[in-house]
Amino acid sequence: HRLVRTVALAGAAVLASAGLAGCSARPAADGTIALLLPEAKTARYETFDRPLFEERVKQLGHYSVLYSNADQDAAAQKQQAESALAAGADVLVLDPVDSKAAASIVSSARAQNVPVISYDRLISGGGLSYYVSFDNEKVGKLQATALVEAMRAAGKPNGGILMVNGSPTDSNAKLFRTGAHSVIDRSGLTVLAEYDTPDWSPDKAQSWVAGQIAQYGDRIAGVYAANDGVAGGAIAAFKAAGISHPPFVTGQDAELAAVQRIVARDQYMTVYKAIKPEAFTAAEAAVDLIKGRKVTAPLSTDGTPTTLLNPVPVRVDDIDATVIADGFWTAADICTPA
Ligand code: BGC
Repeated sequence: HRLVRTVALAGAAVLASAGLAGCSARPAADGTIALLLPEAKTARYETFDRPLFEERVKQLGHYSVLYSNADQDAAAQKQQAESALAAGADVLVLDPVDSKAAASIVSSARAQNVPVISYDRLISGGGLSYYVSFDNEKVGKLQATALVEAMRAAGKPNGGILMVNGSPTDSNAKLFRTGAHSVIDRSGLTVLAEYDTPDWSPDKAQSWVAGQIAQYGDRIAGVYAANDGVAGGAIAAFKAAGISHPPFVTGQDAELAAVQRIVARDQYMTVYKAIKPEAFTAAEAAVDLIKGRKVTAPLSTDGTPTTLLNPVPVRVDDIDATVIADGFWTAADICTPA
């Protein structure tokens, strides 16, 4: 706080000495919110989460947002959190690279009476003031249900599939996988091989899938891909192997490139998660916490007030009624190659 105020006063002094004392300088911030996001390879964070969060914070008052992105490095994220605390952050909004390791960030914050909001991924160990995310098991169920239905309709009810899961350090990845297995395991489909993709890396997903294509060839009739990044990697592996029409591939996030692949019939589906209510709700909770208000929410996760938003499946025929209707992408965005 002291640091932030000193800077604000120094700003006022500069204005006064420049003969602009009559101008109203920007009032000192009502508080400081640290937003700590996990990576930048997945498009959502820099395209939607950050700008929407900042937009809502701005509507709510004169708060400053200290933003950092950890680029998949849990140690770097810990550093970023410590710097934010040292700079006087009044609340941390943390989407952890490593859900377990991030418990130590919560401990340091709490030792300084700074509340922590778990954003999108649940941080282990408790001590949280609020958790906002989507129903992540449902995400996995929607992906798997779409894949099972597509393979049945294609006359391959027992066909072979690959499962390309998310990062082993992401608590959401486990939930997606659990949801997907709950459907796939009683579907008749055959899981040929399964992979937890380190760092959600599209490149690593691509090379793993390339290896599976070499081994299983056209026994692969579908790919459960946990998000659009690894779906893109999987599809690239099929193309590189000379298979111009990849098997049914799932995804998540409704990234522009993925929606375009769905239109091109290279990817079968994605899952749309409306980031706006997620980012807005987190911003509102952050401001409530700064004001000392109690945060309330419809659900509870081990005592933490929790909001879980609803994910929506998107096949080619759903694009209009979902991502376009919601203003996430326009038809022009989708039809103009990026
Ligand atoms: C998020 C997904 C995202 C993935 C990779 C998950 O925790 O819920 O939206 O695709 O991380 O960043």
